[in-house]
Amino acid sequence: MAKLIDSFGRSIDYVRVSVTDRCDLRCGYCMPKQFHDFHEPEEWLTFEEIERVMAAFARLGTRRIRLTGGEPLVRKDLPQLAQRLSALPGIEDLSLSTNATRMDKHAADLHAAGISRLNISLDSLHADTFKQITGGKLEKVLNGIMAAKAAGFRPIKINMVLMKGVNDHEVEDMVNFCIQHSLTLRFIETMPVGDSGRAATEHYIDLGDIRKKLEQRFELIPGVMPGGGPARYLKVAGTNINIGFITPISQHFCATCNRVRLSVDGTLYTCLGQEHHMALRPLLRAGIDDKELELAIINAIHLKPERHEFKEKPEQILRFMSYTGG
Ligand code: SAM
Ligand code: SF4
Repeated sequence: MAKLIDSFGRSIDYVRVSVTDRCDLRCGYCMPKQFHDFHEPEEWLTFEEIERVMAAFARLGTRRIRLTGGEPLVRKDLPQLAQRLSALPGIEDLSLSTNATRMDKHAADLHAAGISRLNISLDSLHADTFKQITGGKLEKVLNGIMAAKAAGFRPIKINMVLMKGVNDHEVEDMVNFCIQHSLTLRFIETMPVGDSGRAATEHYIDLGDIRKKLEQRFELIPGVMPGGGPARYLKVAGTNINIGFITPISQHFCATCNRVRLSVDGTLYTCLGQEHHMALRPLLRAGIDDKELELAIINAIHLKPERHEFKEKPEQILRFMSYTGG
């Protein structure tokens, strides 16, 4: 079977597909409060185009796809796309990143469409702090998480971006919440992606310090989780809960990076923290055939840089996280 190997010998078998750059929340580290400069619908890849690109990736060895955004549930008829992607020969795992505000309405359809695993953003368990960070209502998200559990998604991973002086005092409460509801918890360091991400790094916390703090309170033993992502996991002894630490800044994981990102306008970004990309939409709309599409993808993979430079060049990435697809 064909494999996508980049020029540093890394095997690329995972694609994150952004289905929209729009969102019903405004997390301060992701998108500016007043931001409205979104892609227009005619610039979005259609479901047919996304399916075609992902079928080409699958022929080239991709096994896992994650739908993301923006907020993916803002895109109409998402379960239809999920169904098409999960049915592609070779695709073994389809997952979704969401803020869960609309999950209570769509959980059952998404699960039936073949999405098995979920990542849900949840930065605070206090309605006021949640509103301050995201502009939204905590209650909706909590309802969404419970609906996702009831629909049968396993595992459900809670993503918490930690910010000093904002939500770092909630670390222990969040662990207890996840124990209570059998959820995996992942802490994330803030990345300087876009102006909003850069501004948020003023609250940066090294997750090594959080781990030490948690070790005083919980017995943490080495753990593993399926998914092939960048988190390093510890299990809370006496429970079946894993806690992951995603440390792009304090301990980057570029040497094992296995992914690329397809943005809603059909641009293939080969690194979250670099500009290297290939625009696939113009090629698709110019009528390239499947072999030419595969070749374009292979060429794009050769553009994948060795690593991000968030520490050395924090000013570098102008596009917002919601644009690339986190
Ligand atoms: N809307 C969905 C959500 O919030 O899960 C999916 C897209 S969101 C861009 C994906 C992930 O990126 C979320 O977990 C979010 O917390 C994270 N994220 C966004 N901006 C970030 C930043 N500057 N640094 C670290 N993580 C960030
Ligand atoms: Fe929206 Fe997700 Fe970005 Fe928050 S992190 S603004 S929920 S895309």
